[in-house]
Parts: sequence; C-alpha cells; structure tokens
Amino acid sequence: MQLWALLLAIVVVTEQDAKAETLPAAHRAGFVAIVGRPNVGKSTLLNQLLGQKVAIVSPKPQTTRGRILGVLTRPGVQLAFLDTPGLHEGRGLLNQRMVRRAREAMEEADVVLWMLDAVDGVTAEDEALARELAALGPRLCIALNKIDKLKKNDLLPILARLDQLLPGIDVVPISASERLNFAELLCELERRLPESPPLYEADQFTDQTERALVAEMVREQVILQTHHEVPYAVAVTVDRFEDKENVTVIHATIHVERESQKPILIGHKGSKIKAIGQAARREIEALLGRRVYLELFVRVQEGWTKDERRLREFGL
Ligand code: GDP
Ligand code: MG
Repeated sequence: MQLWALLLAIVVVTEQDAKAETLPAAHRAGFVAIVGRPNVGKSTLLNQLLGQKVAIVSPKPQTTRGRILGVLTRPGVQLAFLDTPGLHEGRGLLNQRMVRRAREAMEEADVVLWMLDAVDGVTAEDEALARELAALGPRLCIALNKIDKLKKNDLLPILARLDQLLPGIDVVPISASERLNFAELLCELERRLPESPPLYEADQFTDQTERALVAEMVREQVILQTHHEVPYAVAVTVDRFEDKENVTVIHATIHVERESQKPILIGHKGSKIKAIGQAARREIEALLGRRVYLELFVRVQEGWTKDERRLREFGL
C-alpha cells in the first residue's frame, strides 16, 4: 500500500472510533404497567413521577377504576406508565371489571412494575401474586413503597422474602409520596425498555380528556368525604363543560346506587355536597388554570355497579 493511502486509512479509522464514542445511545420507549394490591401507592407514584395529577388518590382501596396513562418524557427515553386498579379478590361485576383492566395493562406492557407496601410486608395475597408474576422474567421489576414509614431493620427481612419468591429480580425500595429513590427506580425501568422512537408527543402526559379528569376529581372528593359503602357506590359524569369569557362552567352528576345514599351525599341542609363541590372546584381550577363554576347534581341509578350497560355508559 502507498504511504498516503495508509495515512488516509488511519485517519478514517480514528474518525470512526471518535464517532462511535460520541454517538448518543439509541432512544428507548415503551409501556410500564404499575400493578399491585389496592392501596400500596400506585397512583401516588404515577402522579409524583409526572409532577402532575393524572390519577386520583385516597386512603381507601379501589379508588382507581380503569387503566390510566401517564407519559414521562426524558432525554433519550419515554416511559408510558399504565396505572391500574388494585389486583384483589373481586366480587361483583365492577370489581371483576377492574381486575380485568389491570391484567390487560400487564399484557400490553413492555415492563411490569410490581408495587408492595413495605409497612404491610409481603402479605398472603402478595405471595400469590408473586407466583403469577414469576412468569414475566426480566420484564418484571419490583418497587417496595412507603419506606418513609419503615424502621431501617425492617427492610432486610422483606427483601430476603422477595428474593426467595422471585430470585434475582431487582427490588427498589422507594417512597412515592416523599419521592425517595426515584432515580434508581427510573434507571431500572429504563434499561428494560425496548429501543423505539417516542410513542407520544413530548408535551402529552395523559390520554384522558379534561372532562374525564374533572369527573375523577369530583369522584375523589366523594371518596374522601364519605364513608362506608358510599365511596364505592359512586360514578361521576360531566354533563356540561363550557368555557366562558373568564370562567369555565361545569355541571357534573354524582350517580349513586341506592335511594338511601342520596341524603348522605347531600348532607344536612346540603352541607356535604357543598363541601365536596368546594374542594373539587379548587382541584379543577388548579388543573385547568382557570376560574371554575362547578354545579353538582345527585342522581339515583339503581344498582348501576351490577349493570353491564350502565358500566359501559360510565366508561368502566
Ligand atoms: P393505589 O390504590 O395503589 O393507587 O394507592 P394510592 O396511590 O391511592 O395510595 C393509597 C394511600 O397510600 C394514600 O393515602 C397515599 O397517600 C398513601 N401513600 C402512597 N405512597 C405513600 C408513601 O410512599 N408513603 C406513605 N407514608 N404513604 C403513601
Ligand atoms: Mg390507584
């Protein structure tokens, strides 16, 4: 080989090496289903990861009824989270529907994030779930939540039990409400995602309409401000949503299952429905960034939780 050709070849090779080093890693994107027993903190985690409220949260189980999309777009990676209703022994049509939604999300997802409540430890229900989730292999990642409420020495036995149940699966101890260990958690999730261009526009954070988010915020206040069976007997529809010059006018109906639940929701001289409306309005104003006029109606929809047609009507 001529000397000049050799020199040229060296230059080309070194240039290629330099390129290989500076080339950014391929973009990753995919679906992450967040699953687990009711009340372990799945919806809290989603909201805190996004810094946006897309899923309602309460101390009562079965708050989340459908699959909720929350998109987190970061440099080089997009995580499309699917928040799900709690996996539980569901009696009745509504409960069975909720558990079905969770299982569908699991099948749809590239990665499944199983969440446990560290305060409860690994319960009998968790053990049954672990046996089912084992089949996911490397698609599975585990988050042990609420470590803010845990004493340090209580963590090790839980980690040991999980390693017995699912040997070698990564467990990240986190606190969803205190945002502890989010960087580690995201790292574990991201490396399991396939190479893919983004699935959603960078500014899209959910697929729920404003109307649907508003209905959920009213339902959240009903759950927080009522007791016994009432939180589970309620569905909310938005019947009017109208942007006026300096206020958005919203009419929403709270559907209850039985006549006896109506006075509970309305309260003495309308005090309960007023309190629910005021709290919901504040949340909705924060969501929309506008002044809101909210009017609430209560309607009896006899036995709707057992009625296929009504469930469809309420999007369940
Ligand atoms: P989900 O049913 O799994 O979606 O659970 P939620 O997100 O609705 O949360 C259930 C309850 O647990 C709520 O009262 C939350 O405020 C609470 N919670 C969620 N995450 C944490 C956490 O990291 N620490 C503590 N102390 N409480 C939490
Ligand atoms: Mg939830």
